Amino acid sequence: EFDVLVVGGGPAGAAAAVYAARKGIRTGVVAERFGGQVLDTMAIENYISVLETEGPKFGVALEQHVKAYEVDIMNLQRASRLVPGRSIQVELASGAVLKSKTVILSTGARWRQINVPGEDEYRNRGVAYCPHCDGPLFKGKRVAVIGGGNSGVEAAIDLAGIVGHVTLIEFGDALRADEVLQRKLRSLPNVTIITSAQTTEIHGDGKRVTGLGYKDRASGDAHRVELEGVFIQIGLVPNTEWLKGTVELSKHGEIVVDARGQTSVPGVFAAGDATTVPYKQIIIAAGEGAKAALAAFDHLIRSSVD
Ligand code: FAD
Repeated sequence: EFDVLVVGGGPAGAAAAVYAARKGIRTGVVAERFGGQVLDTMAIENYISVLETEGPKFGVALEQHVKAYEVDIMNLQRASRLVPGRSIQVELASGAVLKSKTVILSTGARWRQINVPGEDEYRNRGVAYCPHCDGPLFKGKRVAVIGGGNSGVEAAIDLAGIVGHVTLIEFGDALRADEVLQRKLRSLPNVTIITSAQTTEIHGDGKRVTGLGYKDRASGDAHRVELEGVFIQIGLVPNTEWLKGTVELSKHGEIVVDARGQTSVPGVFAAGDATTVPYKQIIIAAGEGAKAALAAFDHLIRSSVD
């Protein structure tokens, strides 16, 4: 039986594992893919004290830091069920069952894709998902934001201050963002809003994005916008489907946590992109992971007198 079992091996899980192991308690990490989302990114320029690094390099550094401690890493294993109790059980897709006194859920999230030709091919080469991360890479350039909900409109407002021009593309016949955001967006001189537009393709020259194709859903006409970047903002989906019915989730599927990372289940904590904590960033996930581990340790010293 573990004292702390971390489910998920991204920045949140890695930080939680290091903090737990440094308390000298039995710590395990089970991860479908150790490293998490950072493995899919290229430049990381906003992890404070690291001026610039690459995603895969950062992923290796996370693993090395965890491996410097006595942590049982179970990589390439997917958790499929959580069973609360005095000893909490985590069932794996392989059929194995792990037991722990406390569990830290840090299964992260994934960006919803639009699934059009060019999206995968030009990912990190013009196709981006995170304006806080990649916005500055498009300084002075032309970009599109796909998605007219709150995140898309926020992204367009944010990017308009950095890039040369922003085209906001919305599938429906109206934007869905809060009115105050829409008003702000419409006040900006370098933003074009296109509604009833179905993105059909992201064009490139083999190296980088050069344009975006869309169909006007009213007329059926095909259009093309010349640009250098496309930000896809149609939703961030937390990897929490396996927790439905056991841990309280928000209407977006995020694990509801308090200021210490405590979930609705005693002894179960959570951190990172999978939770209700706003702003999905590496430094935030890592900080939340550390916090959840300290809270789990606190829970252990308060509950185990035996
Ligand atoms: P994740 O990194 O998503 O890790 C989740 C972990 O849980 C993984 O190990 C995964 O395999 C595992 N997992 C999932 N489900 C299960 C399961 N059922 N059982 C077991 N394991 C499971 N942020 C920045 O701060 N700066 C950037 O420059 C930046 N660039 C980005 C670029 C891209 C393309 C993307 C996609 C994201 C970027 N982000 C960036 C966001 C950042 O990567 C995330 O905020 C951060 O990785 C969240 O960490 P996490 O540990 O919560 O989750």
